Amino acid sequence: MVKPIAEIAVNAPLNRLFHYEVPVELGDRLERGHRVLVPFGRRTTTGVCVGFPEESEVTTLKPIREILHPDCRFDEHVLRLTRWIARYYFASWGEVLEAALPPGIRAGKNERFVHVVRVLSSAEALLEESARVAKRAPAQSRLLEYLAGDAGPHPRPALLQASGATSDALRRLAERGFVEIVRERVDPLMAPTKSSNHLADPTDDDADAPTPPQLELHEDQDKALRAIDEALDLDADTETAPLPILLHGVTGSGKTEVYLRALDRVVREGGRGLVLVPEISLTPQTVRRFREGLPGVRLAVQHSMLGARARTEQWRDIQAGQVDVVIGARSAIFAPVPDLRLIVVDEEHEPSYKQESSPRYNGRDVAVMRANMLRIPIVLGSATPSLESYHNARTGRYRLLEMPRRATPHDLPTVSMVPLGKEFYSVNGSGLVSGPLDHQIRQCLKRKEQTILFLNRRGFSTYLHCPSCGFVFKCISCDIALTYHRGEHALRCHYCDARQSPPSECPECTFRGLRRSGVGTEKVAELLSNQFPDARVGRLDRDSVKNDKSLRAILDDFSRGDIDILVGTQMIAKGHDFPRVSLVGVITADTGLHFPDFRAAERTFQIITQVSGRAGRGENPGKVVVQSFSPDHYAIDLAVQSDYRAFYEREVDSRQTLAYPPFGRIAKVLVQSEREERARKLADDIAARLRTVTSSESISVLGPAASPIARIQDRHRFQILVKAANARDLGALLRQANVQAGGRTTAEVVVDVDPQSML
Ligand code: ADP
Ligand code: ZN
Repeated sequence: MVKPIAEIAVNAPLNRLFHYEVPVELGDRLERGHRVLVPFGRRTTTGVCVGFPEESEVTTLKPIREILHPDCRFDEHVLRLTRWIARYYFASWGEVLEAALPPGIRAGKNERFVHVVRVLSSAEALLEESARVAKRAPAQSRLLEYLAGDAGPHPRPALLQASGATSDALRRLAERGFVEIVRERVDPLMAPTKSSNHLADPTDDDADAPTPPQLELHEDQDKALRAIDEALDLDADTETAPLPILLHGVTGSGKTEVYLRALDRVVREGGRGLVLVPEISLTPQTVRRFREGLPGVRLAVQHSMLGARARTEQWRDIQAGQVDVVIGARSAIFAPVPDLRLIVVDEEHEPSYKQESSPRYNGRDVAVMRANMLRIPIVLGSATPSLESYHNARTGRYRLLEMPRRATPHDLPTVSMVPLGKEFYSVNGSGLVSGPLDHQIRQCLKRKEQTILFLNRRGFSTYLHCPSCGFVFKCISCDIALTYHRGEHALRCHYCDARQSPPSECPECTFRGLRRSGVGTEKVAELLSNQFPDARVGRLDRDSVKNDKSLRAILDDFSRGDIDILVGTQMIAKGHDFPRVSLVGVITADTGLHFPDFRAAERTFQIITQVSGRAGRGENPGKVVVQSFSPDHYAIDLAVQSDYRAFYEREVDSRQTLAYPPFGRIAKVLVQSEREERARKLADDIAARLRTVTSSESISVLGPAASPIARIQDRHRFQILVKAANARDLGALLRQANVQAGGRTTAEVVVDVDPQSML
């Protein structure tokens, strides 16, 4: 069949498809799903063939240059999934497809460009010229002769090397029109590959370790597994997909064991599985557990430490069905797994599943969609489910499975609270480690066990609070902490832009020493080294961790026991299993509590619960000491009591009142420009358009207001928050108001559907 025209989803931030001519030599090879190289404006870019229209309004179609890696193409399922993502998240389909590629072959990152030399004259003409300039320009002459024998195209470096010509000679030939030198992408898939065995994970140092004996599942695990079995038993041909399963199990309840058994069954029956974990949890320890727990299963780990080539080969193997289970971070959700029968998303509440650049998809939600399209079971696991997921479970959209007890000898650690405040400051000059925490650290050191100290200090600006009574200044209509702006010396709401000047005394207790927060992990680590001179203190945060390697090094040191006290940010809070940690201290539980974000309480609850969960996982029972300025705040109080359910009930109430997710959907429209007036004006225009087309009562448009971070890299930022009853209304509204993402020249518009960050 002759297909003269192809429709291409081009890798550019444009919400439309482009038509290209299919050259005859590609006509019988090009298929839907192929990645191609196409001329685009004045450059060459990649795209994916998504269809073959009968005709085109465009009269002069440009031809497709070539098919990239013809033996790997996107299958129908991934095409469908990515198109859904493009529509739902207001991204270009071509960009989503690009994001669906393994990072190694994606544009941008790791991508290489080379200059390619194309010959523009006939061999005879080249030889003629070669003879003519032989005396005067021997270098050019030799090069011409070489090109007459092999017209290429040649990558420039290869040509220079093979012909022995100088770059000067080559430039001259280009100037004189015998050749052209064009900058082109190198597709690693086209590069010759040395065989490298990506299935042997480079981070896995003891793949030959003996398999541990199979654990006997406890009752709750057994129940959970039976529920997953039921979902797997559902006939794939039925019209409806099985309900997604939310596995709510406390830290250390044995969720991973449940995933392993379910995956094992799937593979034994000839199917395949896909496991998403947060990037930060993709440690050698995690990988080892999957390897050991799934003996004989062909596992592919989509690890960022894999080189481009290994990734590419891995992709091929996955597509060819030579892999049984794929495990990876967010983008692994696009792995082209044939006969996929089960998806697992561990730590489903993790904000890092959301990509914070275009396409701004949430890996967990894409996973739910993928499972739905394939009508296969999906298991979302967490000790602290997102409000959205738990709400779905409570309203019957998900099936809820609970594992309220630990699988290990000791139950959840005992948690005690140390209120911070006026008295505390007078007792301890440092203001960081309270008497009770100090005591526990000494005990722990004496027992030769390990301590984790947590402080989530990422602050971008500070909030005003009263150290005496804990009062925090909030916006009346938004229930969001007001941010103190030093420049204008004002308290401002980042949702509705209300402002007030900061009072000099606390309106609750009239205390006059109002404070702004301000200590980071580095200071804590330094202070501890002084306080405990014999202890080995380590630090784990974004500053101490430069890359994957150093992260692993610190975790390994801690694992081996070379660090006694590890101070860190959220990086130490998640997923890790260090059996010798018997004490966890939270320096100040409040750091994130007053962020101008409606999820501030949820994040605080999650992080305290998660970090507490690092204690007492081994032989020794665990202790947790939580220091807090707001001991009575429900997020902190209920985290200390390990009462997720109560937290959910409380939080869901305030979400409903203020119409935040899980009640309805929101989108954040961010406008940024180097010129403040431009950004403000465009934001005003967009908000006005949104308000004009808003028909329903259930839709509200807030703002524009200056973003919580009003300027980043010299760009002024304004944002509009759109709330709607459901995703359909939200999408329709944005489309109707013609809110277009993109446009770099004067002001850029970013549309973030289901934003995870309100900054
Ligand atoms: P989670 O993923 O819920 O945090 P894990 O699966 O990591 O929990 O299990 C925590 C610890 O309990 C692990 O060391 C695991 O080997 C152990 N474990 C899990 N299930 C059982 C069981 N049924 N009996 C004994 N130990 C178990
Ligand atoms: Zn407000």
